[in-house]
Amino acid sequence: MGKKQFHKDTTVIHEGYDDKEHKGSLAVPLYQTSTYAFESAIQGENRFSGKEDGYVYSRIGSPTVRVLEERMTALENGASTLTFGSGMAAVSSILVHLTKSGDHILCSRGIYGCTFGLLGIMNEKYNITHDLVKMGTEEEIEQAIKPETVCIYVETPINPTMELVDLQAVVNVAKKHGIKVVVDNTFSSPYLQNPLDFGADFVLHSATKYINGHGDVIAGLLVGKDKEEMDLVRGSIHKDYGGIMSPFDAWLLIRGLKTLSVRMERHTSNAEKVISYLKGQQLVEEVFYPFDPDNPQFEIAKRQMKAGGGLISFTIKGGKSGAQKFMDNLGLIKIAVSLGDAETLIQHPSTMTHASVPEVDRLSMGITDSLLRLSVGLEHAQDLIDDLDSAFKATEKVLAENTSK
Ligand SMILES: *Cc1c(COP(=O)(O)O)cnc(C)c1O
Repeated sequence: MGKKQFHKDTTVIHEGYDDKEHKGSLAVPLYQTSTYAFESAIQGENRFSGKEDGYVYSRIGSPTVRVLEERMTALENGASTLTFGSGMAAVSSILVHLTKSGDHILCSRGIYGCTFGLLGIMNEKYNITHDLVKMGTEEEIEQAIKPETVCIYVETPINPTMELVDLQAVVNVAKKHGIKVVVDNTFSSPYLQNPLDFGADFVLHSATKYINGHGDVIAGLLVGKDKEEMDLVRGSIHKDYGGIMSPFDAWLLIRGLKTLSVRMERHTSNAEKVISYLKGQQLVEEVFYPFDPDNPQFEIAKRQMKAGGGLISFTIKGGKSGAQKFMDNLGLIKIAVSLGDAETLIQHPSTMTHASVPEVDRLSMGITDSLLRLSVGLEHAQDLIDDLDSAFKATEKVLAENTSK
């Protein structure tokens, strides 16, 4: 008899854990240990050779981490999960696994600032090149493929412009060329989007964001759909580069993950209320949220996402100084990078998360000085709207004074 498949709301709470194996402990125990004692020398030999299952050393495996791995594998409909000390460790590990000197990586036209930095290092040191491409149609993707392209790396929604990449189109082209697809699914979380279902090969997360949800951990996750290939990464790059997750961080993530479904629903409903407020504001030029009937990519959003989540970006009148004045007049909403926390956070991508991206690349990604990114938290929507409202009023006043001078 096969195992019963539960809904995601249940999976985030139960998958991969049996209290009977842990003296009835309802909460997953934290195995805060670096190493494991063997009963005999021969047991040690057998564990190292793989003849016997069991733990050896916490960089290689931990019972606490194992629960998180199994939960994530089920949530992303994958075959296996690896955990990392940061989202960037997950990004760098999969890109190191997939490439060698002379190869080419095709990327969506917007990518996380540090991923952009990593691609620069790979180019300079190992002659691994990349292109950032809009990927609006299959033809556009097709034209950007080179003989040396080994993988397509995309974010969708793209940080911070909220532009979508059509996952089906990317996979269709990749399959034709026999190349791998990696998707950074941080912005949606596994609750709202599952790229492996569309045929992607790997999905990764900065677990720092929605998966933990409480702003107190830096961590990364990589889920693959091919067990053998994931075992290869586990036995090589994961173990030997060693960018692993600590048992304590895994324990915090297990705790945070339990509320993922209720959090994502609240993030989404709050975001929807904030969007309708923002659209009526005189200082707001444009609001970017893919799961919005007014958004030109709404059809793609409905195909690949369950709901829109908590991230909104918008442009404000008055350019950089308008944006900065507005942020400085917020009170409840904190000026901070990161996202997916209970607290609502706002940041200015061109001077913060994407400041290290050269201006021409930044502008080609659509990141202007007027763009603000809001990570809508779990507070009462009205309190957020009140805070935004007083900041808009204060900013309007300053901008009016400046023009009358
Ligand atoms: C934060 C983030 C990362 C990097 O993750 P860290 O946990 O900070 O290393 C990668 N991709 C996206 C989309 C992110 O938001």
